Amino acid sequence: MKYAELANAGVHEQPVYEPGKPIEYVAQEFGLEPTQIAKLASNENPFGPSPKAMVAAQASLKQAHLYPDGACCLLRGAIAQLRGVEPDSIIVGNGSNEIIELLGHAFLRPGLEVVMGAQAFIVYKLVTKLFGATPIEVPMLDFGHDLKAMRAAVTDRTRLLFVASPNNPTGVANTEADLVELAESLPTHVILCLDEAYAEYLEMAPDLRSLIAKGRKVFCLRTFSKIYGLGGLRVGYGYGDPELIQLLQRVRQPFNVNSVAQAAATAALMDCEFVEHCRCANELGRRQLVEGLESLGCATVAGHANFVLSNVGDGLAFFQALQQKGIIVRPLAPYGMPDYVRITIGTEIENAKLLKAAAELVECRRGSL
Ligand SMILES: *Cc1c(COP(=O)(O)O)cnc(C)c1O
Repeated sequence: MKYAELANAGVHEQPVYEPGKPIEYVAQEFGLEPTQIAKLASNENPFGPSPKAMVAAQASLKQAHLYPDGACCLLRGAIAQLRGVEPDSIIVGNGSNEIIELLGHAFLRPGLEVVMGAQAFIVYKLVTKLFGATPIEVPMLDFGHDLKAMRAAVTDRTRLLFVASPNNPTGVANTEADLVELAESLPTHVILCLDEAYAEYLEMAPDLRSLIAKGRKVFCLRTFSKIYGLGGLRVGYGYGDPELIQLLQRVRQPFNVNSVAQAAATAALMDCEFVEHCRCANELGRRQLVEGLESLGCATVAGHANFVLSNVGDGLAFFQALQQKGIIVRPLAPYGMPDYVRITIGTEIENAKLLKAAAELVECRRGSL
């Protein structure tokens, strides 16, 4: 018998996540120096990790022979202080992606439904399918989540409703008032999962803690992969009602977050200066990219995260041509937006490099007409 015949039916239908291409692959493929490549494909922090996080990570290596603290005590304490919630309302994961999967373990099975935006973060759909549940994809409104339409898509079979704000890959955020209205309108068999992966880039992130305290079924997800610059270490967390957190703790692996990641994340959390620097630089970079792309005639969605969305005509062709010039962006055909690319806001130099290359391509396109 073939392995394929032995596998569960769902495995064959499981869509596969396509990550941004690593720098080394592109360097090798196009004969470029890795140091010359600008990776603007995965919304990573162009300023790297916080220097304090690197020091803490290094120091923690001396204890690498010991299993990590399975309860992530120190890190949860630091998060609790920063977020103003109790440690027992927090779960830490191997990236917030793991926590999305834990939601699946705890709440999803065939016959149940998960409501999400049609151009939302693709992992919601992957996890839904992994557990045999049905994704209900709701059309978006001006690149943002249409909360009223999402509410209307809720049925007796709905268990989870995902809102990413700001959303990836569109960058558009929902207001606190609209999120509160949605949360208060949901029936008690539905958990609102607010993915706040880019919340630190907002001037003021929506605050749903009082709804959680009131017993509304709201669960919020955050990550160390974006503004904290620790994508390679895989740490994220969720906060919500302690009863929910206890259920999620039951279905995770005992040592899901490694000790280097815990140490680095704890230090990164306390480095407010670094976070503030990244946030300000990101705003300047956003303006640089939006103005530059618009002046080339590419309609651009500025959004509120650390990336912009730009209509470049043929996203895949643009992506391929840029790659040859040592710049990696993300084509969005897999999200049903073949005209667009998603461009992570890089350093000022990286942004300028991208704009220069884009100008050459647009020039080229005009020339060929
Ligand atoms: C990048 C991102 C995450 C982060 O995932 P990790 O597993 O923590 O790296 C989560 N949600 C969204 C919408 C993202 O864009």
